[in-house]
Amino acid sequence: MSRFETHQELIAAMMARQAAQPVIETKDIDGVIRYMKSDKCKKIMVMAGAGISTSAGIPDFRTPGTGLYDNLAKLNLPYPQAVFELGYFRQNPQAFYTLAKELAPGRFRPTITHAFVKLLADKDLLEVCYTQNIDTLERRAGVPPNAIIEAHGSFATQRCIECKRPFPDATMAAHLRDGSIPRCQLDRLPPADDAKEHRDTAAESSETETDVCNGIVKPDIVFFGEPLPKAFFDGFPHTLEADLLLIMGTSLKVHPFADLADMGVCPRVLINRDPAGDIGSNHDDVVLLMSCDDAVREIARGMGWEEELDAVWAKTALATSGAPAGETTVQQELERILENVGNVVGKKEQAQTEIVDDLAGSFAMLAVDREERAAASGSPGAPALAQE
Ligand SMILES: [Zn+2]
Repeated sequence: MSRFETHQELIAAMMARQAAQPVIETKDIDGVIRYMKSDKCKKIMVMAGAGISTSAGIPDFRTPGTGLYDNLAKLNLPYPQAVFELGYFRQNPQAFYTLAKELAPGRFRPTITHAFVKLLADKDLLEVCYTQNIDTLERRAGVPPNAIIEAHGSFATQRCIECKRPFPDATMAAHLRDGSIPRCQLDRLPPADDAKEHRDTAAESSETETDVCNGIVKPDIVFFGEPLPKAFFDGFPHTLEADLLLIMGTSLKVHPFADLADMGVCPRVLINRDPAGDIGSNHDDVVLLMSCDDAVREIARGMGWEEELDAVWAKTALATSGAPAGETTVQQELERILENVGNVVGKKEQAQTEIVDDLAGSFAMLAVDREERAAASGSPGAPALAQE
């Protein structure tokens, strides 16, 4: 239940907030720390974007010489976004599973920023963590699953695209490891009512009745044109519960995710390399243009939590490591690129200009140039979707 019983109460709270003195006294990291130490800050909402995962090894897509063009060319995609489009996936799932093999969970270590979110949960300060990322690094850092809302889905669960029933995790993991296409092994469901007529006339064969579904299985990642998960909308009341909104590593260009930043009545702190959205326009906004990892370490130090932060992060070390750190192979490069690509999601209703801007953001969709991207987004069957 929200602390605001009626719309009138909420509006009154928003007006009072605008009229009141800022609760964050200085617009810098020290001001944020002082506020966090005060008894006014009991619940913190996090909005996380691709920027909190960059130090896990995700490269800047615009950096020349990453070999991105060459690697994508191997997949024979009609255009890069196709790999995250349901129509293309249905016809050619192998392209996605070739990518997914490289994206398979367990290859990337959570960052200090992920560990900081986990620490907030340990301190009973985390109201909720909304993330745009599909890399599941929040989960792997130990943030309680019920405190995470993966706005664009994740690799954590999967289901058949035909009958929509879940598919076993262990079997899925095996497919992700070897890049093969998982297919639904459950009994074929009876046709829906509107297909009854067709079944009566055409499906008399007992062979079809006992057949398995055989639908292609897809991770619960939001593909272009797919709706956001119900959890995204169900989580809206959290925005009203928070005493502090920490917006980390996102340029706030993808809607409706970005709209979360405008729903609450609490101070907002942006931690990002670049300005984002309208953060800075409210009198309680703080904009910290710096790396997420540096910022959360400084905050933790100010709070007296630095040792605990390092201890939480130490637990996230990968159990087994492949190539020695520092040695970047072409394969690793592709993995990192693909993980970033994996952050893509789409929303059909998004304006074309927004899409192009999003694609030019940190996510910088697959290094195709703006014109190509705009053309691809506008082509038939290419939903307008993208994410930073
Ligand atoms: Zn099925």
